[in-house]
Amino acid sequence: MNQLLGAHTSTAGGVSKAILLAEKLGFNAIQIFSKNNNRWDAKPLDLNEVEKFKSLWEKSNIGFIVVHDSYLINLCAANKTNLEKSRNAFINELERCNTLGVKHLNFHPGAHVGQGESDGLKIIAESLNIAHDKTKNFNVSSMIELTAGQGTNLGYKFEHIAKIIELVDSPERITACIDTAHIFAAGYNIKNETEYEKVITEFDLIIGLDKLQCFHINDSKKELGSRVDRHEHIGQGYIGLEGFSNIMNDKRLTHIPKILETPKGKEQLEDLENLDILKSLTR
Ligand SMILES: [Zn+2]
Ligand SMILES: [Zn+2]
Repeated sequence: MNQLLGAHTSTAGGVSKAILLAEKLGFNAIQIFSKNNNRWDAKPLDLNEVEKFKSLWEKSNIGFIVVHDSYLINLCAANKTNLEKSRNAFINELERCNTLGVKHLNFHPGAHVGQGESDGLKIIAESLNIAHDKTKNFNVSSMIELTAGQGTNLGYKFEHIAKIIELVDSPERITACIDTAHIFAAGYNIKNETEYEKVITEFDLIIGLDKLQCFHINDSKKELGSRVDRHEHIGQGYIGLEGFSNIMNDKRLTHIPKILETPKGKEQLEDLENLDILKSLTR
């Protein structure tokens, strides 16, 4: 079966440029930023550019697009001003997705910065409730990315995601994304075949495989359980080819889009090498 495969793709020169680049590289699933991911403010999307994006996408072979939100957003910030800023920025990101016709906004749940995990998860759920309330008719999911658990970052345990889903008013608005480098660093051993099986079974029991809508396919520069987030080229890190073979050949997951976030240059030729390796693993 032809899987939905691709990479995080540059929008330099406008969002529509990502479609052109992805087509050139033969991707059929991509992730983009809809604005500068290291800034709070963003110019509204240019309507011509939006039209171009939509029409190029429609004519393309791209079956899946997800937007990754800004790295500045922390939906459980302890500082009131930051929390307010984060909530507004998150709503703005959902609006941009809606304008672009993109159905998923991928985000990291947040860092509790000393407030404790339990309170952090409650504040995240509250932030999501506010956002979903303000975007009621949107067909855009808030896609929680599993994290490595660096510092006080939440989302490194399946239970964290389950708790957020339990606490929100509109659980149908929530989906999940497994970043392979993150969950490996968080201690989920997807490298070993037997352990991998347990990890997926556990995900299904705790979160539900129906919530899983995307994979970030990255090898890890850091060891199992290191709680450090460093992406590596496929096969060159601690997850190794065995780990990716487990995922690529898992019949339950063939329909889930798989997107690289590995190191790359401007032309993204490294992505082609990584995708070739992934494809070569399918039996
Ligand atoms: Zn991410
Ligand atoms: Zn990721």
